[in-house]
Amino acid sequence: MPQRQVAVSVDLDAVACYYRIHALGEPPTGPARQAVLRRCLPRFADLFGRHDLRATFFVVGADLEEDAEGRALLADLARGGHELANHSHTHRYDFARLSRPAMAEEIDRAHAAVAACAGAAPVGFRAPGYAINADALDLLSARGYRYDSSVFPSAAYYGAKALVMGAMRAAGRPSGSFLDNPRVLLAPRRPYRPAPTAPYRHGGDGILELPIAVTPLARLHVIGTSLILAPAWLRRHLVSVALRAPLFNLELHGIDLADADADEIPPALVARQPDLRRPLAHKLAALDETLAAARAAGSRFTTLRQYATG
Ligand SMILES: [Zn+2]
Repeated sequence: MPQRQVAVSVDLDAVACYYRIHALGEPPTGPARQAVLRRCLPRFADLFGRHDLRATFFVVGADLEEDAEGRALLADLARGGHELANHSHTHRYDFARLSRPAMAEEIDRAHAAVAACAGAAPVGFRAPGYAINADALDLLSARGYRYDSSVFPSAAYYGAKALVMGAMRAAGRPSGSFLDNPRVLLAPRRPYRPAPTAPYRHGGDGILELPIAVTPLARLHVIGTSLILAPAWLRRHLVSVALRAPLFNLELHGIDLADADADEIPPALVARQPDLRRPLAHKLAALDETLAAARAAGSRFTTLRQYATG
């Protein structure tokens, strides 16, 4: 059997994205505005350094243009062998509902910004809010992209998101988030080549889809937030199950390593995100333990680019 692989990726969604999800109005202008790139990113660099692994960072193009300090940190990581990939230009949650030209612009502007920062053209994409469609995959293939990693076939995540969005709508403050086509719940858990007109089914020969990790059968999501919030026994169980797959595509978010006090995350957001109420030391310990478990299980760390092109 070929060696099992673990690909760690970090979506660098800015604090402003979470303001849109929770309908909190104008995003903060203080240190929290750039906290994900300036404060959280260096913590990920240390974490990955400790475990001697290279990761994939999904970068929002507009943030690179706006923040020279964040851009320099990312350029450093790229020089160190980490992968920078495309997470759209402005992280619109309705990305999958945009017209084809508008979608192309979101891809192309971020592509240019990431390429300039990394010194190499990105070959991977992750859609904002995980919703992808056939047009987007077609645009990515035409631009030479080798993989997409947007498919997130977790019933638990989908159900929780639908519930929160419904409650927010009923309360008269609709979320800026977007609920994907429920067909995603039947998508393959393993890497596959999507059918040209049905991105959640295999059957094509083009771009590779690398779904985000969920457990077999129950399809519980195994991502940073679930690992940080789960009790230790459940976290260890989820990780050991995920490590049995040929590829454990472990998705983290920049905000997973926020320190709400030190990074001056506004209380309104902390009140809505339980992970922001966990101490940074707890979150680091959960991720440290997970990465150590992967190493102990004999898995090999890979970037998504290496996996898709190797
Ligand atoms: Zn995102």
